[in-house]
Amino acid sequence: MSLSHLLLRQAMLEPGRDAIFDGTRPWATYGQWAQRCAGLAQRLRAAGLQPGDRVVLFMRNHPRYLEVLWGAWWAGLVAVPVNAKLHPAEAEWIIGNAEARWAFVTRDVAPQPLAGAQRQVEVESAEADALLAPLGELPAPVERAPDDLAWLFYTSGTTGRPKGVMLTQRNLMTMGLGYFVDVDAIAPQDAMVYAAPMSHGCGIYAIPHLMAGARHVVPASGGVDPAELYALGRALGPLSTFAAPTIVKRLVDHAEAAGLTPADAAAAFKTIVYGGAPMYRADIERALRVMGPRFVQIYGQGETPMVATVLSRRHVADDAHPRQRERRASVGVAQTPVRVRVADPQGRELPAGEIGEVLVRGDTVMAGYWRNPEATAAAIRDGWLWTGDVGSLDADGFLTLMDRSKDLLISGGSNIYPREVEEVLLTAPGVAEAAVVGAPDAEWGEVVVAFVVAQPGAAPDAAALDAHCLQHIARFKRPKRYVFVDALPKNHYGKVLKTELRARLRG
Ligand code: AMP
Repeated sequence: MSLSHLLLRQAMLEPGRDAIFDGTRPWATYGQWAQRCAGLAQRLRAAGLQPGDRVVLFMRNHPRYLEVLWGAWWAGLVAVPVNAKLHPAEAEWIIGNAEARWAFVTRDVAPQPLAGAQRQVEVESAEADALLAPLGELPAPVERAPDDLAWLFYTSGTTGRPKGVMLTQRNLMTMGLGYFVDVDAIAPQDAMVYAAPMSHGCGIYAIPHLMAGARHVVPASGGVDPAELYALGRALGPLSTFAAPTIVKRLVDHAEAAGLTPADAAAAFKTIVYGGAPMYRADIERALRVMGPRFVQIYGQGETPMVATVLSRRHVADDAHPRQRERRASVGVAQTPVRVRVADPQGRELPAGEIGEVLVRGDTVMAGYWRNPEATAAAIRDGWLWTGDVGSLDADGFLTLMDRSKDLLISGGSNIYPREVEEVLLTAPGVAEAAVVGAPDAEWGEVVVAFVVAQPGAAPDAAALDAHCLQHIARFKRPKRYVFVDALPKNHYGKVLKTELRARLRG
């Protein structure tokens, strides 16, 4: 079985079933989707591409994304989806590094020819229509083995050049099957909406939705517009989606501003899977109040896509458990396909409650970094993936993430976990967002500095925040300085760029 066979299977079962929507407009049935992929695959092979060759997708979210992705797999190729918000020069670097032969683009993202690609196809062109035209027959996909590469996922590279994470057929099949056990049951009448970038986790969730023969909806805007998503939900939903915490916040803000009730949210959204960055307890509690119990949290990383731990819908919403506060601030328990442990720097498993690096092992863990054996050897040791995240497990197996190991700070010899301070600041009146970093200090080594975004119309001051912290955390963890800002710097996936905040403090 391979990813392309999943599509063939659906096309044979129910060729006339609606599969892809462009906004509310039907774009392709499962039969048409498979026909176009088979056509594209045959023409890519005829042009000389061999199984294992790489093709880049540098596109905004678009219904053709799914056709090019599965067309490449149908031909046995490796897809290299590149974040549409990258600069063309960054995409060119990835094309060079991956030695990609072809690039499929949307004009808004790549208005000029990209250096390095032998051939560039604009997906809204007559050329693309011809490449994707059905053949009149449905030749079987090229066979692939479980360890063959399927997706080369370039990390966001907040420090240094991005690395190509090699994801195999087995990795993605396991992720897809695991979704049904750990995240959500998907029925054929369900609909997945792609508002977050399809080059990342949101697009990867096309796999379980294809496995179930569900519908795939690409918003006409190609992005996150809460009003549009609610309207799409009313027309085609209830929808499922993957959303970074910043997107959840926008949906909740919109619902509040528009006076939408949890019943309205239930009509529009079946399941909102969140992850990719910390979700603070105050924020998920507000989301539950405004939108109701339709949230599931996952923790994963490109190196084990979408699969490390899960905080189920029940665990997110259950108010009755005695340790609900801790659980809701956690990222949940190991997902079914993997084992998760917390280890000391030598890799020894630590007992419950102790803080160390998070390690993951299982069939979703990448094959390694593309042409980078040193980085691979550092990341995968004795079969365990070292995630670079720091956290602790409780006696029931719930993992609480503290921070990336590089974000920890040490002040006067004590470890301080910024996440803990941020959780407290977010419960202070008037605080919308907070990010804590260390600033170099001659006396203490590092001191705690908090960047704070106020809620509209509020003006929290340093003295009030200091008093609030004193009530909730140890004195030495309190920020020594507050910097009030209009917004926090974030990358294209909504993660706060702490490197940039630290750089601001240096000068
Ligand atoms: P990426 O490889 O770009 O998907 O980034 C993965 C990183 O995002 C992880 O290593 C974590 O640091 C962070 N992350 C992912 N999911 C969560 C989550 N649910 N809560 C907190 N941080 C997360």
